[in-house]
Amino acid sequence: MELQKIIANIAAIVQLVVLLGPGIQGQLLTSIPQPSNTYVQVYALPVGQGDCTIIQCPSSGDIIVFDCGSSGANRIPPSYVQTFLGNNINKVRYIFLTHANKDHYNYLYEITTWNNSSVTAVIVGGKKSDYSSANISNWLNNWNTLSKLYMVKNGMSCISGVTNCIITNVRTPTSTISTNFCNNQNIQFNILASNVGSTANQKSIVMKIVHSSWSLLLSGDMEGPAATTIAMALTTTLKSKVYKISHHGASSIANSAQWLGPIKPEQAFASSGYAYGNCRHPTCVTINRILALNTIIAATSHALYCGGNPNMNYPTFQRSIFETSPTSTTICFLTYSSAGSQPGSHCGTPPTLAASTGIIDDDMLYKDDSIDEDDCNIMSGVMEHGGALPMAAFSTLVVIMLLLSFTL
Ligand SMILES: [Zn+2]
Repeated sequence: MELQKIIANIAAIVQLVVLLGPGIQGQLLTSIPQPSNTYVQVYALPVGQGDCTIIQCPSSGDIIVFDCGSSGANRIPPSYVQTFLGNNINKVRYIFLTHANKDHYNYLYEITTWNNSSVTAVIVGGKKSDYSSANISNWLNNWNTLSKLYMVKNGMSCISGVTNCIITNVRTPTSTISTNFCNNQNIQFNILASNVGSTANQKSIVMKIVHSSWSLLLSGDMEGPAATTIAMALTTTLKSKVYKISHHGASSIANSAQWLGPIKPEQAFASSGYAYGNCRHPTCVTINRILALNTIIAATSHALYCGGNPNMNYPTFQRSIFETSPTSTTICFLTYSSAGSQPGSHCGTPPTLAASTGIIDDDMLYKDDSIDEDDCNIMSGVMEHGGALPMAAFSTLVVIMLLLSFTL
């Protein structure tokens, strides 16, 4: 019996080394590896400014998609997600949309239209009304899985004494589903919060996955008062081994000291694009705040970019903070395992952007960009992009001076 256990452990370790060991620079993952017999595997896909986290259950290989979308350049195209999942598309059981911003859901067409029958539930953050202005509601209404559409606790916050939020069916709110998403009692999916605050981002679903002593915190674009409220209510619960940095690494509103302090992460990663657009996620302020926790462990040398004011490029960063687009020409699949080992970093140049095979990846379907676009250049523009406000003030000054010169 003991010998069998040792052999099983060795097999698991060998499998893990094969899976995570390479950390190959210059080779993107082209297909999802075989599931581990023992551990949860997590894949952060390089979608640029957006989120697409694939969670693979041990043994069964069942897949949980936690957001999948992009609003920016320097990314894999949606078709690449199909390629990556391959036949495992049939294993997609649960899809979470943390909130109603398209950089979190506009790749889902590529997943859901392939094989609806395998999806048990699509669970959305925020309230139903948040989606009414976006055509996602039309999409969901037209989609034959409306009966599979669920919301967290029927649109109410759930942080008060939460262990697991209740997830109810939208059509029949009395119908709930279990949060045992991997069908494995040893793996807990704790939805800590949803619908806290008033903006779409603030209402993001916050979920912590726990497997033995390993844990991963996923919080979409949760920010601001939501972060403070959740941190105050769940100080001890937030502690996590791996932290997917909120809101792609935004600083002043999403990763406050109150929020980061209780998490105490050993590893962290940001899903974001290199200095993409006005976002410049992750910001250096956020990276420095996380490092200041003194909990991040060492890692093999890798590139890390952070933006804001100033922008910094660390070509040989040696702490365990990674991002999916560390340079202007490089994107990385990041892989994490509940075995707790070093993350894998599978990097390469972005594949040529192929035309989307679906209709969801463009603005033809989603016309309400003011709501759908990630709000990095709206909410955080003044706070996080040092150049924005001075430039606006400077321009105004120039105009006033010109007017004065004409007047005088
Ligand atoms: Zn976002």
